[in-house]
Amino acid sequence: MLSWSKTQGTMIPVKGYAAQNSKTPLAPFKFDRRELKPHDVLIDIMYCGVCHSDIHMVRDEWGGSIYPLVPGHEIVGKVNRVGTEVKKFKTGELAGVGVLVDSCRTCTSCKQGLEQYCEVHWVPTYSGLEMDMKTVTYGGYSNQIVTDENYVLRISGKLKLEGVAPLLCAGITTYSPLRHWKVGRGHKVGVVGLGGLGHMAVKFASSLGAEVTMLSTSDSKRADAKRLGAAHFINTKDENAFNENKNQFEIIINTISAPHDINNYVSLLKLDGTMVMVGIPPEDPSISVSGLISKRKTIAGSMIGGMKETQEMLDYCTEKNIVSDVEVIAMKDINSAYERMIKGDVRYRFVIDMSTL
Ligand code: NAP
Ligand code: ZN
Ligand code: ZN
Repeated sequence: MLSWSKTQGTMIPVKGYAAQNSKTPLAPFKFDRRELKPHDVLIDIMYCGVCHSDIHMVRDEWGGSIYPLVPGHEIVGKVNRVGTEVKKFKTGELAGVGVLVDSCRTCTSCKQGLEQYCEVHWVPTYSGLEMDMKTVTYGGYSNQIVTDENYVLRISGKLKLEGVAPLLCAGITTYSPLRHWKVGRGHKVGVVGLGGLGHMAVKFASSLGAEVTMLSTSDSKRADAKRLGAAHFINTKDENAFNENKNQFEIIINTISAPHDINNYVSLLKLDGTMVMVGIPPEDPSISVSGLISKRKTIAGSMIGGMKETQEMLDYCTEKNIVSDVEVIAMKDINSAYERMIKGDVRYRFVIDMSTL
């Protein structure tokens, strides 16, 4: 094993897939990772999930994307080697990397394990800036990644690894609000949009004991929604879908990735109900104030989860045998997978097998 002092200053050449700008498809791309610092872990990536955020970012739908852009923040792999001071991991162990790879570590949020809400700067796994505010990050559509051990998750070997990868984003993004709003037995929960996030929300909410209703535009997903744990299914394209289901949910988790009328979904909340926005459509919706005040309703937002809670979620999944339902694809098929996701044609997460890179 090479020590940091011997290799300091050199770089690790890796390969991946990148978008060169917002209009071109993803294509093979060679780049360098930093040589290991004392607390860094080098991971050989085995699987990387495909999140709808990857599409928003590749196409610059939110603004601010940095190119070349190597997406991917649902990463599972094996530790290749570790820096001199690393305590948490050994060569050969499984490891995971999610949506964030660093933060200030000293602000109130970071100290509470809420690194995603860091008050100074948090570092996204791709298309973001490191804490030096100049080094660009590259994500998991690649064969290797270098990440500080404090931002690497422990992965159990008990679950299918391709099904574990999406837990690193889709899993934690839905688990965190369900826990924050203390969802459990006796709660009626609505989940909007049956895609990567939505199917994990159904699995988690039902495993926590809630009565789950799936709200979907795709009637073809009705049977799957039940299998995943939903007690009820509402096809939101039905003419009377909203009128007939008013004022019934304590919590709605909204995962829709595209522009839509959120007031229709607010109308389904009961008194004091909350709709948690986790989906991030490119355009902000307009809100009916009267729709909120008539029953003291709340619209909230939630972003991924901190390192502690992400580990807790992974351990919960191991205990309850929860993984994502995946379709494994080869790296070269990524552009057609994006097209299928945009049509809602994913059951329910594409995961790239990195051995095909
Ligand atoms: P996805 O797999 O593509 O699923 C989105 C689902 O939304 C689709 O399967 C579809 O479900 C529904 N949908 C799509 N277009 C719609 C429309 N025009 N009207 C109504 N429903 C529509 O996406 P994902 O990976 O789950 O991500 C969902 C969103 O969450 C994205 O915007 C992503 O960027 C965001 N996200 C946020 C966080 C966070 O921290 N808050 C983290 C990860 C991702 P049906 O077929 O059932 O209708
Ligand atoms: Zn994501
Ligand atoms: Zn911080």
